[in-house]
Amino acid sequence: MSIKEKDIKLLWGRSANRCSFPDCRMKLSQDKKMASESFPIGEQAHIVGKEEGSARSVSILSEEERDSYHNLILLCPTHHTLIDKNPEDYPIEKLHMIKAQHEYWVESTLSESHETKAKASDIIYAHLIDLTVEGCSFENWESWMSNLISPSHRIVIDTYMKAIQFTLSMHKAVWPGNLHELESAMKHFSTTMNIMLNFYIKNAESRGDYYIVDKFYKKRYYPQEIYQQFLDKYEKWEGYLDELIYEVVKAANWLADIVRRDINPLFMATNGKFSMVIGPDDNLSYQTVVPEYSIDQKKELIDSFEDKCRDLANRAASIDI
Ligand SMILES: [Zn+2]
Ligand SMILES: [Zn+2]
Repeated sequence: MSIKEKDIKLLWGRSANRCSFPDCRMKLSQDKKMASESFPIGEQAHIVGKEEGSARSVSILSEEERDSYHNLILLCPTHHTLIDKNPEDYPIEKLHMIKAQHEYWVESTLSESHETKAKASDIIYAHLIDLTVEGCSFENWESWMSNLISPSHRIVIDTYMKAIQFTLSMHKAVWPGNLHELESAMKHFSTTMNIMLNFYIKNAESRGDYYIVDKFYKKRYYPQEIYQQFLDKYEKWEGYLDELIYEVVKAANWLADIVRRDINPLFMATNGKFSMVIGPDDNLSYQTVVPEYSIDQKKELIDSFEDKCRDLANRAASIDI
């Protein structure tokens, strides 16, 4: 038996994520990874002790009642230790009073600003999502990605410019910090997009409204040996470009999943998953693919996407053209 989500939400919400101890009121972190000395992990202390023999454990409360919101008090590690070490000074009745006074303080002084803050971060996320949809032409995704991965590797210059601009503005964005996975997915997507576009432009040239790949190996007549060298070079570049494009589409699908989970269940729902058309293959046929990360890959990327992006960028830098 452990504490239910609902009780956790009630406890954290009504304490405004702060230590309940009089005059402490330290802001607490729910996520171990985010915790620090100035933002310690919050501890859900039992008022009536949970285990027999633990502090303040003599009571008629059932096990389930001991894990409910009414029997919990949110404290910083220091004050949790203090009350557990001094049960005579902090008996059950006194802890109930401390908790009630803290919640009263939250209601009377904080509730307004606390709510305002929650709304402000929602608005920031919504704004960053809008920037992404617009900057990366999500409405037109399959078409521009399919053109980019096609043998001529085409992209409308305006689409390219908007996407590059988007990656630069994401780089400067201020992140609220309360939706960890969403922020990782957004940063991963924009960084991957930036690496791919920069790698692409190393070997593209403008043609009217488009960038198009520079097939330098067949621009003029070369002796067989030189031709082969150039072709190898081109194919190495093209192979890695394709890899980077797959990475970008995977990143887009991850991001969309998290936006649907955390912000809006209907996000991009009519377009479905991000896909692209690849081909022609040896039989001159085309197929639609939906590149996605596995569940384990996503889990790992939450905290390691920066390493992943560094590897991608290093490989991009090592391929000269
Ligand atoms: Zn305790
Ligand atoms: Zn405290």
